[in-house]
Amino acid sequence: MPLDQTPALHAPDLPPAARRGLCTDCGLSRMKNAADCGTACQFIAPDYPAAETRTHGRVRGPGDELFFGPYRAMYRARLKAPAPGAQWTGITTRIAERLLESGAVTAVLTMAPDPADKWRPVPVIVTRAEGMAAVRGMRMGTAPPARAAGHTRIAVIGIPCQVHALRMIEEKLGLERLYVIGTPCSDNTTTENFHRFLALLDERPESITYLEFRADYRVEIRHDDGRVRTIPFLMLPLSDLPADFFPLTCRTCVDYTNALADITVGYMAGTGEQWLLVRNARGEELLDLIRDDVVLEAPSSAGKRAAAVKGFAANTERAAGGLPLRRMPRFLRPLVAWLQPRIGPRGLEFARARLEMKAVETVLHLRRAHPRRLKRMVPAHVWKLVAPYGITPREGETPTTPSA
Ligand SMILES: Cc1cc2nc3c(=O)[nH]c(=O)nc-3n(C[C@H](O)[C@H](O)[C@H](O)COP(=O)(O)OP(=O)(O)OC[C@H]3O[C@@H](n4cnc5c(N)ncnc54)[C@H](O)[C@@H]3O)c2cc1C
Ligand code: SF4
Ligand code: SF4
Repeated sequence: MPLDQTPALHAPDLPPAARRGLCTDCGLSRMKNAADCGTACQFIAPDYPAAETRTHGRVRGPGDELFFGPYRAMYRARLKAPAPGAQWTGITTRIAERLLESGAVTAVLTMAPDPADKWRPVPVIVTRAEGMAAVRGMRMGTAPPARAAGHTRIAVIGIPCQVHALRMIEEKLGLERLYVIGTPCSDNTTTENFHRFLALLDERPESITYLEFRADYRVEIRHDDGRVRTIPFLMLPLSDLPADFFPLTCRTCVDYTNALADITVGYMAGTGEQWLLVRNARGEELLDLIRDDVVLEAPSSAGKRAAAVKGFAANTERAAGGLPLRRMPRFLRPLVAWLQPRIGPRGLEFARARLEMKAVETVLHLRRAHPRRLKRMVPAHVWKLVAPYGITPREGETPTTPSA
């Protein structure tokens, strides 16, 4: 069914984008305030201490906040009744459903699958709770969020680069109420590139209905005939992908965990379940809406990340801007793939490892591609994450924003 015929779901027309250098088309350049890109863009000169203070009332602290951003509570979580079609159990869309049901908002801005290509995100405005079912699940690629013309109480479900720009112009939007439900995001690519990856995974890539990089070092793939396969990361056909498979934006963005959302809904520290970071009072309000529907536990942590991150940093350096493929004889891969989920970093330690790897990538890729951007684009907290691996600011790279 075309999107605009789906009940309670509208796909508005957007004006064309004025694409800039590093840009994920977060929507800002299509708005009246397109000139705000210079101050609002995550890829130009983000000021996380100021943005965190405006949104959460304080900057991130030391310890795990250095990795994940400010939070009041952190949980391993799942919906008691997982929602069909959800990426995990559907906590993200359930929160949005409750916001619409309770009348707290009149519109939710999010991404639906393109009717012609289920992997392509299309911006939509959802105005009734029953419309949320159609947007569950993950698409690969970016699209500018819709504009909520006429709505003053809204929720936005967004990835970090979108949420950063939104927070930077929030005050100018004149909204009565804004809730931000964020998901982590990393290793995104264009929808076209993602189709190339799917074609390497199966003879009938069109039969793939679901794909997720899980925290147990395996990719889960579901097919339209009910088949479910899992492939260890190490056994993926990554060497067949082009060096620029991941756009430079997605190799250098600095906010994996969506630190400016009210609540972040991911999976990284969830050891097979979802992972919630409640960041401020509005995030608590959002969790309260689904408390009866959700099982909450303390996240666990096991293993040690240092060797894995060190190896990743060496591979990234060696790859000279391409994909950081592991140098390992083919015959050893099945053994290491078996060992990884058993002895590798797990739970919170896995999430910390991924945050450090992302920080390493940011610095090394920017040094190669845009060395002059480092001092404005890389916040002080990212330098703290890479310091244990011997990566420190060189001359001209010291951050211009104050330390968190
Ligand atoms: C490209 C990408 C990479 C991700 N990488 C990680 C990761 O490394 N670690 C991690 O913990 N989590 C990651 N996530 C988040 C994770 O995949 C789940 O979306 C999240 O855990 C929520 O699960 P859920 O069952 O609650 O979502 P659901 O209830 O199924 O809802 C998912 C929501 O995400 C929105 N959405 C889907 N695709 C996009 C898109 N391309 N852009 C913007 N919004 C979109 C949908 O519209 C929907 O509202 C990523 C998400 C994306 C889109
Ligand atoms: S603010 Fe958004 S639209 Fe503007 S340059 Fe950055 S990503 Fe692109
Ligand atoms: S990986 Fe970063 S830049 Fe790319 S879409 Fe996700 S948040 Fe945006």
